[in-house]
Amino acid sequence: MAHKNVDRKHIVFYSGGLGSWMTAKLVIEKYGKENIILLFTDTLIEDKDLYRFLNVTEEHFGIQITRIADGRTPWQVFRDNRWLGNARVAPCSHHLKQKTARKWIEANFLPNECTLYLGIDWTEMHRRNAPIKNWHPYQVEFPLCEEPYISKQEIVGELANTGIELPKLYKLGFSHNNCGGICVRGGQGHWIHLLKTIPERYLEAEQKEQEMREFLQKDVTILSRQRNGKKHKLTLRTLRKEYEQDKPIDILDIGGCGCFVDNEPDQYPNVN
Ligand code: SF4
Repeated sequence: MAHKNVDRKHIVFYSGGLGSWMTAKLVIEKYGKENIILLFTDTLIEDKDLYRFLNVTEEHFGIQITRIADGRTPWQVFRDNRWLGNARVAPCSHHLKQKTARKWIEANFLPNECTLYLGIDWTEMHRRNAPIKNWHPYQVEFPLCEEPYISKQEIVGELANTGIELPKLYKLGFSHNNCGGICVRGGQGHWIHLLKTIPERYLEAEQKEQEMREFLQKDVTILSRQRNGKKHKLTLRTLRKEYEQDKPIDILDIGGCGCFVDNEPDQYPNVN
């Protein structure tokens, strides 16, 4: 991490996930809490329990979380951009997370007045390049990519030591605590897990996908799959029906969220 500078602000992208919680803890331990900013960007479709986690960790750290929002949900962003988010291109993360955070940071600090911190860990080192490039000239650091390399299980243990309850989505077996368990970057396995654990949220996403298909009058889908060497679109409705009929599902296709990580274009083509 950077050398100590008492006036410099340390801005942690605080998502409500375990990685960002541990990152915040490490940065606070290193610099003290006076110049720390925990920046939460709300997608407005978060799990209710995420706000419980924000509130208790805010109290535990003794730092008031800075809460910002674009004001739209991912579904509204898809409509505005005429693009249904998918594993390849997800305008939701670009607009609701990256652009919203950038606007706030640029309005408040010059690049030489702050350091940004992301919760990417040492198992995903390869994901560091995109945010370093995206946030330039701001400096980005990744404390979980530094020694001692902390495992996810150790982070769960650290949280348990504080007496703070694990966020509900982790308890349900999700790998992140974003967007209420919905993620357009997730694979078939992720969506089937959502269907099994929070079926009403799956059905809502299924309905939203259908609405986008009607709105665009195009065969657009969040998911796609390879069959006989060819890529096929796969609606959430079809996936659910296949699951209900006990047809084989690629549950190992989990996919992954990279809300503050990946490059996204500002403009989207008319179809996807
Ligand atoms: S978690 Fe997934 S759905 Fe939510 S903003 Fe990030 S990429 Fe989009």
